[in-house]
Amino acid sequence: MADPQRPLPTLNEHDSHAFWQATKNKELKFQRCANCQTLVFFPRSHCTGCTDGDLTWHTASGLGTVYSYSVVRQSYHPFFRSKAPYVVAWIDLDEGPRLLSNVEVSDPAEVSVGQRVQVHWEEHDELCIPLFAPVR
Ligand SMILES: [Zn+2]
Repeated sequence: MADPQRPLPTLNEHDSHAFWQATKNKELKFQRCANCQTLVFFPRSHCTGCTDGDLTWHTASGLGTVYSYSVVRQSYHPFFRSKAPYVVAWIDLDEGPRLLSNVEVSDPAEVSVGQRVQVHWEEHDELCIPLFAPVR
């Protein structure tokens, strides 16, 4: 039996297509409103500040800080079950967006709030998944 595979996002979603397209080049994108400068993340077609649709894309450095996290010890999905225990964290990117991802460590006790982390990429055929690891 094949190893369980990570469920992947679909690439034909209107709002998130450009985000996932950029991950193929290992670029972590976010949006900013050209009208009111509100930072918009996750990707959308309209600004959450002023509802204007004039959003521009920017590339994050991939550096961030753990805002909060949890250790997952059980999962019903075969792929994630094979990863347990693993860390799911809210990560504040240096540019401002807060995103949910994993901090990959051999022991979840290595993760802490306020820890500096850096993106790394899990490669797939049509996109890459942004995961994080502690900055060493
Ligand atoms: Zn706006």
